[in-house]
Amino acid sequence: MRNMSVMPGISEQVGPVIFKAACPDCRSRFELAAEALRLAIGGSRKTTFYSFTCPQCGSSVRKPAGERIIELLTGGGVRTLRLHSAL
Ligand SMILES: [Zn+2]
Repeated sequence: MRNMSVMPGISEQVGPVIFKAACPDCRSRFELAAEALRLAIGGSRKTTFYSFTCPQCGSSVRKPAGERIIELLTGGGVRTLRLHSAL
């Protein structure tokens, strides 16, 4: 007798994670996949940001990332770069 057990306690998201973003330059709104985003975590709030390239006008956008955003992005599989501050 086979027991088809589903791993308990783990809820995996199915499909690609999509993040909504807006461009401050051309003011267009769009959805980005996790691989289109970069997250940089530095030693301070000023050096912690996420960035992406606007698919409409091609400008690189950089926005500050708070704790909640960091959580969302890292949880969604966004590539994270940890910056080392020279202190
Ligand atoms: Zn744009």
